Amino acid sequence: MPAVHKLLEHEDVREWQKQYARLDVVASLQETLEALRDQVREGLSPDLSEDAVTKLAKERLRVRTIMRVRHVINATGTVLHTNLGRAPLAEEAIAAVADVARGYSNLEFDLETGERGERYTHVEGLLCELTGAEAALVVNNNAAAVWLVLHELAKDRRVVISRGELVEIGGSFRISEVMRASGAHLVEVGTTNKTHERDYEQALAEGADLLMRVHASNFRIVGFTYHPPLTALVDLAREFQVPFYEDLGSGSLVDLRELGIGDEPTVRASIEAGVDVVTFSGDKLLGATQAGIICGKREFIGRLKKNQLARALRVDKLTLAGLEATLRLYRDQEQALEKIPALRMLTIPVADLRTRAEQLAREITLCAGGYVRCRVLETTAQVGGGALPTERLASSALALYPMSGSPDKLVTALREETPPIVARVAREEVICDVRTVFPWEDEALVQGIRGAAARSAQSD
Ligand SMILES: *Cc1c(COP(=O)(O)O)cnc(C)c1O
Repeated sequence: MPAVHKLLEHEDVREWQKQYARLDVVASLQETLEALRDQVREGLSPDLSEDAVTKLAKERLRVRTIMRVRHVINATGTVLHTNLGRAPLAEEAIAAVADVARGYSNLEFDLETGERGERYTHVEGLLCELTGAEAALVVNNNAAAVWLVLHELAKDRRVVISRGELVEIGGSFRISEVMRASGAHLVEVGTTNKTHERDYEQALAEGADLLMRVHASNFRIVGFTYHPPLTALVDLAREFQVPFYEDLGSGSLVDLRELGIGDEPTVRASIEAGVDVVTFSGDKLLGATQAGIICGKREFIGRLKKNQLARALRVDKLTLAGLEATLRLYRDQEQALEKIPALRMLTIPVADLRTRAEQLAREITLCAGGYVRCRVLETTAQVGGGALPTERLASSALALYPMSGSPDKLVTALREETPPIVARVAREEVICDVRTVFPWEDEALVQGIRGAAARSAQSD
């Protein structure tokens, strides 16, 4: 077994040390030797020459030094994929993030007075303009927003909510658990499928401090159902003089219904209907950085800003810069739809996707036809991110059928590419939905498919 100090003198290893940290080089060599020792113990006789060991160590070094958090190609067709980082940012947002990241910023500094400023003021005006709200506040994410609203407005007090809205959002985040953690006492009314005005009325008459509605973002109950319209709940809250809080989940700033997508209400509609406080995510349909946005009446937002724990949930400068730049795009709806990737991906016509898929299929057949058969497949993509769960977007995909080896092997090999490609297997084929692949990723997609197909065929 060669010694580490001898290997460090190897010509190739000396080269590595110019490029990589010594710590990584040494660890790669040690891990390689350890693995070889195991093989020897098992009775195998691996090549232990310095050249052979070095070659193995190089691969370990490569894997060790790749960024763990990195860009992947999303070929799943799920536009807001929570596991893949939800919303990709608009170029304008990326530039804004880079601008404040590189140097100092006026995060909490008022350039007019030269005195201490407030980090929330940068986006508050924009949010009010876009939603019609009197005031706004931004926190770490929508889960934090829900917690903060309940903690401030209903700690040790009674919150009336429909049983049909006590939902689980994902990653075992349950509305009911967050409510309990905030110190609010739940007063559940109605049933899973039906909650009537009179159910709310009864609970409010028995004494309650907040009326809450949670938008059914990630599920649908269909059939024999009833939930009062928003205006009826606004009236009830007024009658019993309690604040009305609505968690919209996704919360869209453009009316996607006008574009033929889903039935998601806009934030403005809730504010205009008279809801006192509305919360929603920054990185779902909005298409910005991860954030929890709280809009509503000045009186309540003011209390939230003063809450001691708001600081623990506050957003950083990168988030704020990305959010502000994205919100600015919404001042012109056409611009928002074109420049915000999530909205563009949702609205791009299927015919355009098909043309691109056909071009990609030709390229793949040309460079990897010996390993995979590639055809264009009509498929359906989805919104994701716990929004519009029943909405299916007509889409176009590449269906890859490996000549040798299994589709499971190919889909795994695709994830090992640089950048990794995340696709799915359906009916003996690997499906790469084009809707969620950026045109600037097309070349990497073709190269990745070629590389993965060749490797998975060889290892067969
Ligand atoms: C997604 C969602 C949340 C949580 O939002 P995050 O930004 O992921 O923290 C809360 N409520 C509803 C209704 C949601 O859909």
